[in-house]
Amino acid sequence: MHLDHRRIFLEQLAPTSESPLLIEIERAQGSMLYPREGLPLIDLIGGISVCNIGHSHPHVVRAVQQQAERYMHVMVYGELVQAPQVMYAQKLCSYLPEKLNCIYFTNSGAEATEGAMKLAKRATGRTRILYCQYAYHGSTQGALSVMGDEYFKRNYRPLLPEAYMIRFGEEEDLLQIDEMTAAVIMEPIQAERGVIIPSEDYLQKVRAKCEQAGALLILDEIQTGIGRTGKMFAFEHFEIEPDILLLGKALGGGMPLGAFVASQSLMRLLASNPVLGHITTFGGHPVSCAAGLAALEVLENENILEQVEQKGRLFEEYLSVIGARALRRKGLMMAVEFYSKEQCLRIINELIKKGVFTDWFLFAPHCMRIAPALNIPDALIQQACEIIAECVHAEIKLK
Ligand code: PLP
Repeated sequence: MHLDHRRIFLEQLAPTSESPLLIEIERAQGSMLYPREGLPLIDLIGGISVCNIGHSHPHVVRAVQQQAERYMHVMVYGELVQAPQVMYAQKLCSYLPEKLNCIYFTNSGAEATEGAMKLAKRATGRTRILYCQYAYHGSTQGALSVMGDEYFKRNYRPLLPEAYMIRFGEEEDLLQIDEMTAAVIMEPIQAERGVIIPSEDYLQKVRAKCEQAGALLILDEIQTGIGRTGKMFAFEHFEIEPDILLLGKALGGGMPLGAFVASQSLMRLLASNPVLGHITTFGGHPVSCAAGLAALEVLENENILEQVEQKGRLFEEYLSVIGARALRRKGLMMAVEFYSKEQCLRIINELIKKGVFTDWFLFAPHCMRIAPALNIPDALIQQACEIIAECVHAEIKLK
């Protein structure tokens, strides 16, 4: 039966690479994945920063079931009052600075990027968008236009005109933010480059330069948001506020949901001239919003945010002595850097055989991603790190 699934997967589902993992998942619970064959896997990536409270938390499952029984899709976004959207928007705003008081729910992170770029153009009347080298904001054509790696863009050009790249963390490049710039879009911590954390004052300088030029600052917290770095939003570490905030991944508590967040006065611009300035059928799906709200309640009720730094340190203690080239971390967002892409991939594959599930990064295939559920038990951290140490030592011996 499962062999058949694998064949159909390979033949009838569109591929994204030549070498998919091909592990069939039977179920997932907490920080564990249970494949149909082979060992259970300690999940150290949580669906790539999605499952911040673990898989299938009973509170979230209940919220999904109850909302599905009440109603699922009833009308396109923005017309009918739907309690899960309203309640989730209110709850999210209670965590945000005063000026980020209006939420546009989307289906995905990429769609949040698209909406935010349109809003910035509309709000400033300008056309230029600056983005960072090695940035990832999604795979649709607008988001691809601001992806910071030509390899992924080349065969899909022409993309958006007036998108210009700057180097992340280089103050000198901030001179390019000028009165023609509609927006600067960046991640506060670059995820896919392998967790690159900027200097304390870099983001403050970006913020100040945007202010001076009248350009909007769009911060992409699709990966860093909802507690991943130990604060609800990573911008809090840097004491700045964006004009537009992008959310996704963990926002839906395991269901598909994204959002761009701005001030009410900015968001109103999307409602006129032309009317329906940004529209979506499924954005803010009531079941996704109910799941996201329930996940945030779990984060609060189980004091999960307070434990992120301690759990991150525990990983760091174990992993700083295994012989990796470098380790970068903010909260529970970590990159373990090895000496080559091949070495990293060998280690990741060995780990899967031994019961630990990790991954590499899009622009840093020599780095191993660790971004587990924020409530991963300490005992599982220890167990996973011991297996990682074993695999890394075996790999080093092999050399
Ligand atoms: N922005 C960042 C920082 C991301 O990591 C991702 C997804 O990996 C996206 C945007 C795009 O989100 P989605 O895959 O939901 O379109």
